[in-house]
Amino acid sequence: MASEELIGRLTSSVDGGAQAIQDFFVRMLRINAVNPRMGGPGERERADFLESFLKENGLAVTRVDVEDSGAPGGIRPNLSAKLEGKDGKRNLWYISHMDTVPEGSRDLWKTDPFEPTIRDGKIFARGAEDDGQSLVASLFALLMLKKLEVPLPYSVGIWLVADEEFASNYGIKQLLKRHLFKESDLIVVPDSGSPRGTDIEIAEKSLLWMKFTTKGKQVHASLPRKGLNAHRVGMRLATELDDTLNAKYRRRNKLFDYPVSSFEPTKKEANVGNVNTIPGMDVFYFDCRVLPVYNLGEVENDIKKKIKQFEKRYHTTIKFEEIEREPAGPATAEDSEVAILLSRAVSRIAKVKPRFVGIGGQTVGNLFRREGIPTVVWSTIDDVPHEPNEYSKVANLINDTKVFAAAPLLGPV
Ligand SMILES: [Zn+2]
Repeated sequence: MASEELIGRLTSSVDGGAQAIQDFFVRMLRINAVNPRMGGPGERERADFLESFLKENGLAVTRVDVEDSGAPGGIRPNLSAKLEGKDGKRNLWYISHMDTVPEGSRDLWKTDPFEPTIRDGKIFARGAEDDGQSLVASLFALLMLKKLEVPLPYSVGIWLVADEEFASNYGIKQLLKRHLFKESDLIVVPDSGSPRGTDIEIAEKSLLWMKFTTKGKQVHASLPRKGLNAHRVGMRLATELDDTLNAKYRRRNKLFDYPVSSFEPTKKEANVGNVNTIPGMDVFYFDCRVLPVYNLGEVENDIKKKIKQFEKRYHTTIKFEEIEREPAGPATAEDSEVAILLSRAVSRIAKVKPRFVGIGGQTVGNLFRREGIPTVVWSTIDDVPHEPNEYSKVANLINDTKVFAAAPLLGPV
């Protein structure tokens, strides 16, 4: 356990560097890093800036450039730096992303999204919260540990990755493929959080987006028996799926704000353009978020069975497509080392009582959990990602820097 004195030196050194941290944050936010799949220039210029800064501060940088012909310059950069610890075989990694979503309609912004503006203790800019604050906080946490020459129980490092906002195909997924992480690593993904920093996310739901295309036979509405009303078949299928799935997958998990799985009919495509035609085709969608305790394959089998019944009953064909499928990895245990480590840092440094939570959305944390690597997701944010006038509170930036710096010193567990 680290001495009070060491923790005190570390936190006052972060306080002493607060202005420099804020200034650096502003400089980084000026560099547009909108994801190239969303029409932006990508991470390259921001990565070059970050790489030189890390090197200027005496850190060796590992850079993984992933080829992407769809990005200006043809590459997607991923950066890493770390400090060696006593146990060189294990790493505590803070993983944040460099890319952002576009600014959206400029009319909705009170300030220039790429000229950070500080007002009432908040820094307004695209990417300030998602994921700039955490990127800068973890980077400066590392620099503070280096500057104070703090002896570390294991290696501590950061990864600044590409492409989180689209699908992580040129970021985390590539790094995992290259075996850059180990099951014994401790992973912190500061890319979701809560306003007081109380929530430590340890579980996510599986995600399934499905499209159902029901075929019928289009005829005049006055002679319905001549045709087959695809809309009626589609509606019945949607309500039966709704009833069946919600009735079967009823287990609850109190970690989640919405404690059960959800199976929701959502989007509906237009069918015929006029009222007096029986639709010959009908398309609807479901958004499913399934608790990690369930196997997604079982859910899919139930859906396919229901479709078969309908095809038989109506003598027709129904096409079923999965447009998004992300199975959840196992929830990270509350008594895993990384969960204990972070909750200690949160209670001791941020001085709030941490609680473990699950979320219905997904972060890259899930990609690590799927590989069997325990992962927690945490940061102190007001939760305004992707919104116009996105901001980060300076107090949260400094607070989280302290938490990240102190966390490795509060073990061994
Ligand atoms: Zn993010």
